[in-house]
Amino acid sequence: MTIHFPFDNTYARLPERFFARMAPTSVRAPRLIRLNRDLALQLRLDPDRLSGPEGLELLSGNRVPDAAEPIAMAYAGHQFGQFVPQLGDGRAILLGEVVDRDGIRRDIQLKGSGPTPFSRRGDGRAAVGPVLREYLVSEAMAALGLPTTRALAAALTGETVVRETRLPGAVLTRVASSHVRVGTFQFFAVRQDVEGLRLLADYVIGRHYPQAAESDRPYRALLDQVIAAQANLIARWLHIGFIHGVMNTDNMSIAGETIDYGPCAFMDAYDPATVFSSIDQQGRYAYGNQPRIGLWNLTRLAEALLPLLSEDEEKAVAEANEALVAYSGKFEAAYHAGLRHKLGLLTKREEDPTLAGDLLKAMAENQADFTLTFRRLSDAAAGPEADEAVRSLFINPLAYDAWAARWRERLSHEPQDGATRQAAMRVVNPAYIPRNHHVEAVIQAAVERDDFAPFEELLMVLSQPYEDQPAFAHYAEPPEPHERVYRTFCGT
Ligand code: AMP
Ligand code: MG
Repeated sequence: MTIHFPFDNTYARLPERFFARMAPTSVRAPRLIRLNRDLALQLRLDPDRLSGPEGLELLSGNRVPDAAEPIAMAYAGHQFGQFVPQLGDGRAILLGEVVDRDGIRRDIQLKGSGPTPFSRRGDGRAAVGPVLREYLVSEAMAALGLPTTRALAAALTGETVVRETRLPGAVLTRVASSHVRVGTFQFFAVRQDVEGLRLLADYVIGRHYPQAAESDRPYRALLDQVIAAQANLIARWLHIGFIHGVMNTDNMSIAGETIDYGPCAFMDAYDPATVFSSIDQQGRYAYGNQPRIGLWNLTRLAEALLPLLSEDEEKAVAEANEALVAYSGKFEAAYHAGLRHKLGLLTKREEDPTLAGDLLKAMAENQADFTLTFRRLSDAAAGPEADEAVRSLFINPLAYDAWAARWRERLSHEPQDGATRQAAMRVVNPAYIPRNHHVEAVIQAAVERDDFAPFEELLMVLSQPYEDQPAFAHYAEPPEPHERVYRTFCGT
């Protein structure tokens, strides 16, 4: 008997030009690094069998599960502002879709599973480093409560891949509410394939935005909802100090999930100009640029959708503009609401954005650690005894004192007592984020010593980001100067 995947595939039913039918390429000596048992259960899969020898065959791409209809999806995209009319899954295979325990349809995809017709010059493979990074960061994002793709499994292939050096190869099993991207719409738009565009839009409405079907302008409603989802997502990235690193339009999910973790990283000291990715020379995707890039990408989506918005071109452009104009307001509202919560303000006052902005400014000027400042502020919210732990994060602690006096004055107008406020802040201000120096150390142990224990430990700590975990407190600390990581590589 083979392991049962309750596949119920819909994307593979779309016309053949949406994808290439393609099985994964087998690998020499697969070895399971990790199976995400909770996620397996959520997907109605049997974790015991999946982590056994037969499961490994499936998770490494050596065998295709029954009822899978493996495809590589076609898409286009703007990469660092340059349009590429054909990208597509160059190293990923969508096995199929399952409906999870909550009734949500999820894609199960192998990433690093060998070449496809979309590979161009790539080898279709992934090195173990980027696979571990994606596993860690996507699962951390999920535990932090952000919309994200998930990691079901990671397996070594027993083969090496050639990057700057030879590295162990690995396959990630990724789970997403779908893999449709802004770039998927661009793929049909650039071919002036209006029928394909309409089929895709109808598919996305059915799968992600069923309310849009009730609207008298469903495609406009679709655009509005994608804009709202992205405005919200990017605001949430900023709240936790996340930098995606490659916000190309092919890496922006239509469903509003964080997708395609490459050279992504979390900020240590607060600085809106922070860039980690080695390929982002101009800082296009710097932390503080992400909201603007979100709008840029959504503008590309709106352009792609023009033929569906109205038959009259002028009217279509007017519709698109109307939808795009709403982005800033939606982003600002989500961003400021989140900041208020981070500061323990449960009511809303006009001066709150200034108060929050002044803290961020002081943090930037004083190289205060982003995550720790807010975490410790949660305790300071209960009473000024805890101020010392916050102020010591600032080069000039007086900068904190001046701000804290204004904050306390503002808090005095809040109805909650200090303990309630502290508790409310602790569930939005994490103690643990996947700090870069820890992620790098995990990867190094795996690559150099075939040691996955550090990966397991970091993953466990990150699964409860809002809990104090005294035994693992060192994972909450910012890097020492010699541990600091300045550059991340996508390693593709
Ligand atoms: P990314 O920068 O990971 O979003 O990838 C951009 C494009 O390059 C996508 O079409 C990928 O499928 C493709 N790609 C990335 N790495 C590889 C690889 N090793 N082999 C083939 N295609 C790849
Ligand atoms: Mg990508």
